[in-house]
Amino acid sequence: MPALDAALNSLLTGEQPGVELITTLLSADAEQMPALFAAANGVRRLGVGEAVHLRAIVEFSNYCRKNCLYCGLRRDNKSLPRYRLTEQEIIEAVDNAAAMGFRTVVLQSGEDLYYTAANIARLIDRIKNKYDLAVTLSVGERGYADYKTWREAGADRYLLKQETVDEKLFQYLKPDSRLRERLQCLHWLKELGYQTGSGNMVGLPGQNPTTLAGDILFMRELEVEMAGIGPFLPHHDTPLKDAAPGGLELTLKTLAVARLCLPRAHLPATTALSTLTPGGRELALKSGANVIMPNLTPLHVRDKYLIYPQKSDIIEHPDRTLKNINKLLAELARPLAKDHGHACQITGR
Ligand code: SAH
Ligand code: SF4
Repeated sequence: MPALDAALNSLLTGEQPGVELITTLLSADAEQMPALFAAANGVRRLGVGEAVHLRAIVEFSNYCRKNCLYCGLRRDNKSLPRYRLTEQEIIEAVDNAAAMGFRTVVLQSGEDLYYTAANIARLIDRIKNKYDLAVTLSVGERGYADYKTWREAGADRYLLKQETVDEKLFQYLKPDSRLRERLQCLHWLKELGYQTGSGNMVGLPGQNPTTLAGDILFMRELEVEMAGIGPFLPHHDTPLKDAAPGGLELTLKTLAVARLCLPRAHLPATTALSTLTPGGRELALKSGANVIMPNLTPLHVRDKYLIYPQKSDIIEHPDRTLKNINKLLAELARPLAKDHGHACQITGR
């Protein structure tokens, strides 16, 4: 039996994945990829059901104290006009999300200490008092006390991608972070009872299949409830402007293998993948993904949250996004989830 079939079989029959098994799966060629994607789709169906969950994302500040080499929001990017939404503007964006029927709102920003722990707690409290919405935060590395305050204020989930667990690569890409400290944050989040999301970029300069296997194994070990896996996309105003983007096939393979190793996690069809390739969202939903994150950032600032260029959701009005999603899901015969889509809530079977 060819190595890929053997690796797939052993994973599907319960073998603990290791680096070798994962790198074998990631090496699937054009002929083998359909089998890999079909297996991931089957595991997705059994693990999290047919329904696709929507998470409305509100990008409330593009100020960042960090200088990640890949990201357009890095503090040294002086050509980016910066914005901060007021509490009222954020609440209005959440009002829109609630009115459109979303059950989760994701509040994301650069690492912007302008918003104190108390400010963010107040925001969570206002949202929770007003709506029956799940609240996800994604505001980077903060201290245990801040995470605790927000959890107590009612935050349900937190997204903090490890980006890469290759220590040397991490240090190069995130010069003012430490891998150990970022992983510590993830452990705190788990300990505090957040549904915790991690994830990695695919196609980073200097990355290899072993690095990617390390990311998948890390997320499995941490038992993440969510994993965001998308291609690296070079941004013209960053030191990585001349680097090649992550490839479509490798991104889909990484997503599919992540699904095989994380049967019950929520995996988004990322905006980065739709930006890389029109139709990327559909391909991801057929290869293990079960979440879409439509952009509810107010239109007047949306083009300034430019972590990478040509973000596919920049100009699209949320109404149009929802129409497109409904059309796509009808074509795929996948229902839209009606519940909050908390971890391990299986719907739409
Ligand atoms: N500041 C927070 C959250 C905002 S950045 C943090 O860093 O955790 C959100 C995500 O954007 C990051 O986790 C990273 O994976 C992604 N990102 C940033 N620059 C990117 C690029 N050039 N290509 C693809 N994804 C990118
Ligand atoms: Fe800041 Fe996050 Fe971008 Fe890094 S990835 S520069 S922390 S917004």
